[in-house]
Amino acid sequence: MQKIQMKTPLVEMDGDEMTRILWKMIKDELILPFIDLKTEYYDLGLKYRDETNDQVTRDSAEATMKYGVAVKCATITPNAARVEEYGLKEMWKSPNGMIRAMLDGTVFRTPIVVKGIEPCVRNWKKPITIARHAYGDVYKNVEMRVPGPGRVIMTYISEDGETTETKTIHTFDGPGVVQGLHNLDESITSYAHSCFRYALSEKKDLWFSTKDTISKTYDHRFKDIFAELYENEYKELFEKAGIEYFYTLIDDAVARIMKSKGGFIWATKNYDGDVMSDMISSACGSLAMMTSVLVSPKGFYEYEAAHGTVQRHYYKYLNGETTSTNSVATIFAWSGALRKRGELDNIPELMQFADKLEKATIDTIESGKMTGDLALITSIKDPVVLDSEGFIKAIRQGLEG
Ligand code: NAP
Ligand code: MG
Repeated sequence: MQKIQMKTPLVEMDGDEMTRILWKMIKDELILPFIDLKTEYYDLGLKYRDETNDQVTRDSAEATMKYGVAVKCATITPNAARVEEYGLKEMWKSPNGMIRAMLDGTVFRTPIVVKGIEPCVRNWKKPITIARHAYGDVYKNVEMRVPGPGRVIMTYISEDGETTETKTIHTFDGPGVVQGLHNLDESITSYAHSCFRYALSEKKDLWFSTKDTISKTYDHRFKDIFAELYENEYKELFEKAGIEYFYTLIDDAVARIMKSKGGFIWATKNYDGDVMSDMISSACGSLAMMTSVLVSPKGFYEYEAAHGTVQRHYYKYLNGETTSTNSVATIFAWSGALRKRGELDNIPELMQFADKLEKATIDTIESGKMTGDLALITSIKDPVVLDSEGFIKAIRQGLEG
């Protein structure tokens, strides 16, 4: 059998613990036998990040900007326990946070829909992708307790000191609390670009929601920036692609989503996305069935699983015990990246392979073969629980059959 040839390399970001074990199994069983794989490899495993003072993470982000498409394994974000466990020189920052900052990107999360693992919301037939703006609002707030009667004001002073504007937030009769929030036109604009681009890339409708009727300046600014950008740069492209941009109030969006069939992208403000992404992922069964892609406003893509390194399973694995860790989201990170690479380099076989790999994965589960986490929640009768490797091998059989 002839292997599929690639033109441009994929940026490959290896990671930690159980997902690093799955990473190798996926490559060996599901990728390398079928594709003459070209990657530029970066080891984001914690040990090597520490050895390179995290330079490897910066290099991998630079490479993503050079080649356009990356696939990333889950990585440890160090805390005090990890500093001790790995004898780290420093408590290195989250690689995902660093890469997102360097790419100025937005994360889009999509559940993987399989028959037998239906979402709690019965009418959701197609996945709902959620995007969360990752800058400002309550996550960069300044807040204060107000001890007693008095006035709290908000003042703007221009850099040259000439213009000022002051507003009273509240005149307090007794104790209370106050909070200051901000956002930046630049960040909102980048976010909007990422959302419009991703909708075009996926050929899905884009929804955006804020509370602009109550927040007539702050939230309204988000609405206006999206609307202007859409009119000036994306309207024609959307019409050509046969997709829609739809703005609505956050509460209306929530109500509509519960009644919808799914199949669209929902862009949210920072806090709404924090809350609503947890709702959507739990309604869809499992974090292990959720893909995640980071999209930069310039159109660079980094694909990964939404879950972490599955530390508890890794320790079992190290003890020589059998694990049944779900590799679906990591497989879909690979298929997503290969499909995008095929699309950008015009290699139809690569895109078809990505489709086949996803279908073989879904078919395996729908035939009743799955990992332990899914067996617990499936409506399929008498599922066969496979171990980590057995599940990947079963997909390979489907892929070859
Ligand atoms: P986690 O790795 O997502 O795992 C939490 C639990 O969820 C697991 O113990 C397991 O439950 C279940 N689970 C998650 N993924 C699974 C899968 N593929 N198959 C089967 N079960 C799965 O989160 P964590 O334990 O909080 O974090 C571990 C490490 O991951 C941390 O060091 C954190 O920094 C890192 N992390 C990285 C990323 C990323 O790189 N994107 C994201 C999140 C966390 P049971 O134990 O009950 O089986
Ligand atoms: Mg949350």
